[in-house]
Amino acid sequence: MPTVQTVITGALVLAEGTRQALPADLLLQDDHIAAIAPAGQVTSETVQRIDAADRLIIPGLVNAHTHGHGGLAKGAGDRWSLELLLNAGGWLNGRRNDDDRYLSTLLTGVEMLRKGCTACYDLAAMLPVPTQDGLHSIAQAYTDLGMRAVIAPMIADRSFYEAIPGLLDAFPPDLRATAEALRTAPADVTLAAMRTAAASWHYPADRIRLGMAPTIPLHCSDEFLCGCRDLAVEYEMPLQTHLAESPVQRAAALQRYGTTLTRHLDKLGILGPRFSAAHAIWIDTDEIDLLASHGGAIAHNPGSNLRLGNGIADMRPVLARGVPVGVGTDGSASADNQNMFEAMRLAAFVSRVFDRPPEAWIGAIEALNLATQGSAAVLGMADSIGRIAPGYKADLVFLDLSHVNLVPLNDAAQQLVNTEDGTAVRDVMIGGKFVLRDGTLTGIDWPRIVARARAAAERLQDANAATRATAERLAPVISHFCVGLGHCAHDLPRKLRADAG
Ligand SMILES: [Zn+2]
Repeated sequence: MPTVQTVITGALVLAEGTRQALPADLLLQDDHIAAIAPAGQVTSETVQRIDAADRLIIPGLVNAHTHGHGGLAKGAGDRWSLELLLNAGGWLNGRRNDDDRYLSTLLTGVEMLRKGCTACYDLAAMLPVPTQDGLHSIAQAYTDLGMRAVIAPMIADRSFYEAIPGLLDAFPPDLRATAEALRTAPADVTLAAMRTAAASWHYPADRIRLGMAPTIPLHCSDEFLCGCRDLAVEYEMPLQTHLAESPVQRAAALQRYGTTLTRHLDKLGILGPRFSAAHAIWIDTDEIDLLASHGGAIAHNPGSNLRLGNGIADMRPVLARGVPVGVGTDGSASADNQNMFEAMRLAAFVSRVFDRPPEAWIGAIEALNLATQGSAAVLGMADSIGRIAPGYKADLVFLDLSHVNLVPLNDAAQQLVNTEDGTAVRDVMIGGKFVLRDGTLTGIDWPRIVARARAAAERLQDANAATRATAERLAPVISHFCVGLGHCAHDLPRKLRADAG
């Protein structure tokens, strides 16, 4: 028996792979689970006891794809496609200082924690170029909350307007000049900034990791993508990109590369075990096979995909080929929440729009596994988080069994996926320490954060008003052009064909 310092007793624990939550005691040593014991077995008085009566304990949910910078921008848009959202990026994320970055990440993290998520993969907006202080302000937010995170700044050496073949030509001359003036930083400047960050990263690897995020392959030259690849290998960083998120991206790739996005990335040597693809809606079976043979993973974001009208990613063929799949919320500017219970539920539900029998749908246990172990694999942390098992970190979510969502408790797994919305979460423990205790966050002064966030949002709205006006002038041309281009990718059944009129 290992040296146990803490025993969590009195709870029902959702054991791996089963529907039923059973009475069990969790024995903790330092920051991890030492053993799962029959209820009431540990009687030693030298062990700290945590009474968890009337609680259901599940592994912390893991968000495989989000954007911390979305915290200050939730609800900012309504009927916008991915391309309209990208066009709005300048005013959504512009003119932010490091305190804004901290606050936005904190808001995103607070929502994740309150809704039972203990770790995330954050693709942070730091255009035109990531700064060391900016990265540390984001890392500080997760540190203050006690969360685990991979922080991967979104980088590129092409603007959105340059990335879509033919888009600049579609603008009238005055708007074209405006769009052409919106540029990214040179590739070597961005890669040098990432090298400096990687070389000096000092956060514990099991807590806050740095990652590479060449944000969208079309937004990156091949040389830039190769530079990202080399840095990821040299500093052993995970690498994530938005892959074939919209039909526009599939069609644009066929035009630009003469092949699909995944095959192009394969030619550049980007695929591999450290690679993960966010969204991966508009990929074909050849692309899935490439991901499977190279060991890449997918972050499935069903809520965001519906929200932005991107279509529905078909995960069954991906799972059938053994590709690890995690579940993500995406950022709050495109989702617009950080509710992993909702994301899990949608992952289960959207699997049912494809014409397959019920046994091929994603069910409750599978959805739960994707949102825990699957997402942990996307973060590169599959050997330490995502499971309640000996040797794994004590990242645990305690739900109130008297909450209406769980009364009566007919089937724990099915109610977590099909009923729960995060409101039954009472306590969250990460690495053996409570970060949410009886509904209160332990690491931050929430009323102060509220005041600061409101002030920051108001200031940024004024500061970005002119940028917003410019984006709104560009938007109609972008929308029209991209709808037309996207139709070229409709060889894949990812969107329903509408009746005329
Ligand atoms: Zn995203």
